[in-house]
Amino acid sequence: MSNGPTLNPFEISQRQLDTAAKKLNLDPQVHELLREPLRILEVHFPVRMDDKTVKTFTGFRVQYNDARGPTKGGLRFHPEETIDTVKALAAWMTWKCAVVDIPYGGGKGGVICNPKELSATELEGIARGYIRAIGRFIGPEKDIPAPDVYTTPQIMAWMMDEYSKICGYNVPGVITGKPIPLGGSLGRGDATARGTVYCIIEAAKELGIELKGATVAIQGYGNAGYYCGTLMEELAGSKVVAITDSRGGVMDDKGLDPEAAFQFKQQNGSLAGFNGLKAITNDEILELDVDVLIPAAIENVITDKNAANIKAKIVAEAANGPTTPEADEILHKNGIYVIPDFLCNAGGVTVSYFEWVQNIGGYYWPIEDVHTRLKAKMVKAFHETHNMAKQHNVDNRIGAYMVSVQRVAEAMKLRGWV
Ligand code: GLU
Repeated sequence: MSNGPTLNPFEISQRQLDTAAKKLNLDPQVHELLREPLRILEVHFPVRMDDKTVKTFTGFRVQYNDARGPTKGGLRFHPEETIDTVKALAAWMTWKCAVVDIPYGGGKGGVICNPKELSATELEGIARGYIRAIGRFIGPEKDIPAPDVYTTPQIMAWMMDEYSKICGYNVPGVITGKPIPLGGSLGRGDATARGTVYCIIEAAKELGIELKGATVAIQGYGNAGYYCGTLMEELAGSKVVAITDSRGGVMDDKGLDPEAAFQFKQQNGSLAGFNGLKAITNDEILELDVDVLIPAAIENVITDKNAANIKAKIVAEAANGPTTPEADEILHKNGIYVIPDFLCNAGGVTVSYFEWVQNIGGYYWPIEDVHTRLKAKMVKAFHETHNMAKQHNVDNRIGAYMVSVQRVAEAMKLRGWV
């Protein structure tokens, strides 16, 4: 994952918006407002560490656009978090919520920290400190955080508790991705991957690709990557032949066991060495001759340096921002079918929305209802994107932007903002 981008992630998101705006003949006033976040918050807060010293942490929350509803989006705990990444991710959340047509705007947050070097008590301190710092700016009707890179249901539980203490009553709807006993939704755990797999199934139908026995490579083996592996087997009958995580990976042409690989990673901290299989790097996995490639790790891994070597028929972007605009052009020219990130990984926020609806209604759905409703949302959004791209002869990413930007622009107009 070494190919450095020329543009930062936020500039990339602006450039993608500009392309879609041009195709849509978007009102320049709407376009201008959509190029920047409505609000950016930077906070510095104290946390007592295990050695009793107090350390100051920096956090961000970006509320990109709330024309369609309260802002919604995850929180990342990452040592290299930057405001530009958070701004880009908040923009993508805006398009993500719009493409699946849920009544939210987009937001994102992050804290600069390295969870791998923190104890559980210190993580809890950061989670609570961050919520005390941003508490007055969030809420079920305002801005609703959720898990993202290196944040977990337990972290959401501490945050929900801290927010509820500030309010003086229980507010489960302030945050999603909570553990089930605290108002989490059944089906939230694998929702991102399930949405990705629903999209892959629809794409394969469009392309006439048989998924039964098809080969799959997955870069990144966190929540999204792992469940993509098990669900590609379970729902599509495909064969996972290569997986990596940040420390390395393995491949096996005959197919490997995604569940056993996950257990191995849990015990050993990495996939490297799993079952004595052949080692593969994060760069190599992208160029394998497979039917489906799933980048499920971080931004900017498919670039102008390696896009021409990609051989997969379908690239399903479970990660946010894995492909640079230069790479997008190359993939499109080479006829590779890209399911763009904010459509492909929208399953997570869709079930977050279901969680919030259940919290507000105080009535909890069986898992079958979650799956049926998620599938309906994903399949509809997939075909709206596919058809838009076909109709305007653009790649799927710009097709998805066109669907989303049109929806957000319409809400802004109706509100009388422009
Ligand atoms: N962090 C996830 C995403 O990027 C989920 C956001 C949410 O559930 O609000 O889509």
